Amino acid sequence: MTDKTSSPAPATDFIRNIIREDLASGKHLRIVTRFPPEPNGHLHIGHAKSIQLNFGIANEFDGNCFMRFDDTNPLKEDEEYVEGILQDVHWMGYEWGEYLSYASDYFEELYEFAEELIKKGKAYVESLNAEEIRELRGTLTEPGKNSPFRDRSVEENLKLFREMRAGKFTDGAHVLRAKIDMAAANINLRDPVLYRIRKVPHQRTADQWCIYPLYDFTHGLSDALEGVTHSLCTLEFEDHRPLYDWILAEVSAPCLPRQIEFSRLNLRYTVLSKRRLIQLVEEGHVNGWDDPRMLTLSGIRRRGYPASAVRLFCERIGISKSENNIDMSVLEDCAREELDKIAPRAMAVLRPLKVVITNYPEDKTEEFEPARHPKNPEMGSRKVPFSREIYIDHDDFREDPPPNYFRLAPGKEVRLRFAYVIRCDEVIYDTEGKVNELRCTYDQATRSGAKAEGRKVKGIIHWVSTKHCVPVEVRLYDRLFAKPLPGSDDSEGNFLKDLNLNSVETINSCQVEPGLEEAQPAEVFQFERVGYFCVDSKESRPDTLVFNRTVTLRDTWAKLEQEQTRQS
Ligand code: ATP
Ligand code: MG
Repeated sequence: MTDKTSSPAPATDFIRNIIREDLASGKHLRIVTRFPPEPNGHLHIGHAKSIQLNFGIANEFDGNCFMRFDDTNPLKEDEEYVEGILQDVHWMGYEWGEYLSYASDYFEELYEFAEELIKKGKAYVESLNAEEIRELRGTLTEPGKNSPFRDRSVEENLKLFREMRAGKFTDGAHVLRAKIDMAAANINLRDPVLYRIRKVPHQRTADQWCIYPLYDFTHGLSDALEGVTHSLCTLEFEDHRPLYDWILAEVSAPCLPRQIEFSRLNLRYTVLSKRRLIQLVEEGHVNGWDDPRMLTLSGIRRRGYPASAVRLFCERIGISKSENNIDMSVLEDCAREELDKIAPRAMAVLRPLKVVITNYPEDKTEEFEPARHPKNPEMGSRKVPFSREIYIDHDDFREDPPPNYFRLAPGKEVRLRFAYVIRCDEVIYDTEGKVNELRCTYDQATRSGAKAEGRKVKGIIHWVSTKHCVPVEVRLYDRLFAKPLPGSDDSEGNFLKDLNLNSVETINSCQVEPGLEEAQPAEVFQFERVGYFCVDSKESRPDTLVFNRTVTLRDTWAKLEQEQTRQS
């Protein structure tokens, strides 16, 4: 593409401003960020915001961004997710080069840091069980109470911790806790657990370890080991920042990264938490993580969204600390904008209605040669055959047209895109009385491009020649949920009851212009007047292509919602 994606003005937001200051003051010479997913599910559009922020900043400021897997919970994690996540980040257009890492790479260093805390008297082995720990933790309004094991000697703690590592105890027998302050107003500082026993093999370290560090302990120290300068995370970690800073201050960390929080992306009419996405997949409410209705990156990709649309979306929503619920139309508009620039045009009839042009010779075929893209001549042209029998869309004909109906109706004229003006002379019905076929006549003088073309006909409709067209299957998608905030009005947060039960409509008998049988998996077209459609890369069959509707041409949803609010 030449100069169609004009480069945007450099982004400014409070995080980039901090980074500019840190560079200007000489606090940092080189910026290091990281994108740290846990490989316990596939990425969704919310992660795209974090990917674009972390990798984007590294690119803009000539720093680097670690692609780091936060793989500390072997019970929930899987190599399959690692592969998928790498594929998704790559698709977004970002490269990690040599900066691919795993928190599990640091298990030995993390263990050493834990011993360091123990030796300083800043961590102890707790022998209460999870329930008892919870009871002593206190509440938001009441301070917690010290555990009877809090004052174990350094020697005893070291011995027990080493025995924990050596596998002497069963799961849950002991944990390692930081020794901070059971009366702290911030519950995260009430002696948080740092290590637990899990006799579960890890996907990368196999059975090398039977104790695993918890998120808060792992995260900041991994940041420090990688020389991360700015550790960018979502707002729910704001209350964890004092712990993040405490841990880094108490051990001999190689550097002191700064945690900065921003608000996470929420999108209306969908759910974005991995826990909920897993539930949708496992309970079969969708057909896998890459179901085109899912707002996972794999789902969006399969649906036909280009990565550039996702990047444009992230740019548009920006970075701030304010809570947000972005409307799906923002994402859809980005897809329209990007696809309009790159998608070749084609004619497709979703619900075919046969039209016989009675005054057109029976054995004649003409070929029109429209551009593949109206604004990109370099994309060349295509050949569209025309003959006596064509299909038009059922929606483009009305027996009793309303006053300003400019498409086809009995006795009315319409222009066939790239071809001629036709007039509807006769309607043929089937045995049930439904419109089955139209008989029309064409006016040879109205050939597109010819002098007489200037004749005043308001409507233009698309069509395909019955002899030449190619049958395909089309899937029309709607939002996966019927409510803007699924589960929000349910006391138990049950979001499944808000599923839209009609979120996909399959149409088997669509007809597209010839040439499209050559379309490649994932190729996206603009079906003129209908929308953007992408060849499904998974379920297209050798004899029949399946097209996913990526997005309609206009925002029909915004209109519907406006009407609804006006009515109510
Ligand atoms: P989820 O809540 O969907 O399960 P998570 O936060 O547990 O996601 P991680 O794998 O820990 O998922 O996320 C990796 C990074 O992506 C984190 O830095 C996290 O803050 C960020 N992230 C996750 N969801 C969003 C979101 N909706 N908006 C912005 N950033 C997000
Ligand atoms: Mg998480």
